[in-house]
Amino acid sequence: MKAVIIGSGIAGLTAGAYLAKHGFELTILEQNPDIGGVTGGFRKDGFYWDMGQLVLEGFGPGEQVGTILEELGLMGAIRTVRADRTYVFPDITIRPPEVYAGPWWRKEFLKERFPGDRKGLERYYKMYMRFMNLVTIARQAERSSGVSGLLKKIKLYATLLPFVTKIRWSAQRMAQSLFGDPKLRAIFISILADFVVRPSQFPGLGIPAVNPEPAFDRRVPLEVSSTGKQPSYRFIEGGCRVLVDALASAIRRQGGSILTGIEASKIRIENNRARGVQCADGGYYDADLVLASGGAREVFADLVGGDHLPEKFLSRMERLPLMESILMVHLGINFDPRPWQRDAVCYYYRTYDVEAAVDHLQKSLYHEGEDGFLIYIPTFFMPQCSPCGEYAVTVYTIAPNTLTHGTWRERKVELANRLLDYAEGIIPGLRAGATQKIILTPEDFRKGTHLRHHAFGGCAPVMGTKGAPHRTPVKGLWFIGAQSESGAGMNNVIEGSWRAMRMIFKELGINM
Ligand SMILES: Cc1cc2nc3c(=O)[nH]c(=O)nc-3n(C[C@H](O)[C@H](O)[C@H](O)COP(=O)(O)OP(=O)(O)OC[C@H]3O[C@@H](n4cnc5c(N)ncnc54)[C@H](O)[C@@H]3O)c2cc1C
Repeated sequence: MKAVIIGSGIAGLTAGAYLAKHGFELTILEQNPDIGGVTGGFRKDGFYWDMGQLVLEGFGPGEQVGTILEELGLMGAIRTVRADRTYVFPDITIRPPEVYAGPWWRKEFLKERFPGDRKGLERYYKMYMRFMNLVTIARQAERSSGVSGLLKKIKLYATLLPFVTKIRWSAQRMAQSLFGDPKLRAIFISILADFVVRPSQFPGLGIPAVNPEPAFDRRVPLEVSSTGKQPSYRFIEGGCRVLVDALASAIRRQGGSILTGIEASKIRIENNRARGVQCADGGYYDADLVLASGGAREVFADLVGGDHLPEKFLSRMERLPLMESILMVHLGINFDPRPWQRDAVCYYYRTYDVEAAVDHLQKSLYHEGEDGFLIYIPTFFMPQCSPCGEYAVTVYTIAPNTLTHGTWRERKVELANRLLDYAEGIIPGLRAGATQKIILTPEDFRKGTHLRHHAFGGCAPVMGTKGAPHRTPVKGLWFIGAQSESGAGMNNVIEGSWRAMRMIFKELGINM
């Protein structure tokens, strides 16, 4: 069978690796001159920067992505190292202790800082353990069948039962019910600002999912109980590009082709079935199967067109809640920044009011770095990504797609400098010591991803909503990627492609 995939991001490459492995005649179409989408990274004068991906969840053996890489025979091609992140708030820093203090050091540390919330912290960590058990069982159930699958499902519902009364609680309500101190609440929900979702819109039961303890200390063991496992957090040695190249090589080895500089402009549909893909350069690719990644609005409204889709479906796609974009400055610097930032990944939160920060972003009011930013120094764990004695540094913050005053093109340098003013409050001399400087604005990201609205992590995880379904109303047309039902993040996008492939293969009677 012939298959065409639109987009060579991590979603398209993962799906492509499965299709090529199972003998499909595969063509991947990519509008950019290079492959990889936002995971392609880039190189200049001996430096390598990832596009902003930090510590990645679930890449270890037997984990969410690890299992898929094992299935594709690619685990050996990728080396990962466990890693963690540091949170810096205006008057609290959460950083792994120099001497390992056990798996629950964060609980004890927070109890000391917030003695009035000791009971709430105990309750939170009880919920955390049950949540990790639940996720572990859910994953096992998804990959089991027959009697074993049935038993796993029963166990899953039994573990879920104590959560049922809180299933509709928002993160704001959950945090308020657990903790009296607003600063402590912010510590557990601050990451929602990065997702551009208000705590009042995010599921309360999702709080443990965005605060796995191994993300805060690489030494924490993954087992939390006899059933439950927490995800590991890792850097890919050599950056995300290594994964992109491994997937692309696997596809090419099996005869698949990846064409760059080719923009898909229309998906041809006859009798409600996808038949092929028309490209902007006039080329046409016949297909029995079309998988599209990228933007849901762009794919369904522009490439498919309203004539082929139910109105209700199209209007749902138009209303999908999307995240906002990023203002990013990649630097190469000629001095060791360790005296000022000793950890590779540091989030600098400058407000405890997450609800207000997200509200402003959703209204296109850009905080210019005032609400927070992060500094990532990959050279600390990956010396090969900069010339000897120099350091690759990335500074970025969440930014709205459009500004209320002026355009990103007009204000690029001014707003990058404003962000670097804040970053220099942490690491002095960043600009004076810079041998490289690359600024990427939301406008650049929109162009590079072929999106009208760049959403850095795809659909925003708003309670009661879901991204675009993998199975579309058009036969033979499937949707994958960050704006699909998989949800955001490398781990979810990769798993989403695996799920879509499982549905496709089941329909075609192919054993995965
Ligand atoms: C700055 C930043 C930081 C991030 N940090 C993290 C992190 O720390 N951890 C984490 O897990 N995730 C992170 N993510 C999210 C994660 O990287 C993405 O969700 C994921 O890589 C998206 O993959 P994708 O294949 O869906 O999309 P993309 O990478 O955007 O790929 C889609 C591809 O399709 C192409 N395309 C679209 N339309 C067309 C068309 N019509 N014709 C031809 N080609 C087309 C685009 O050019 C693009 O190459 C981050 C993302 C960004 C941008």
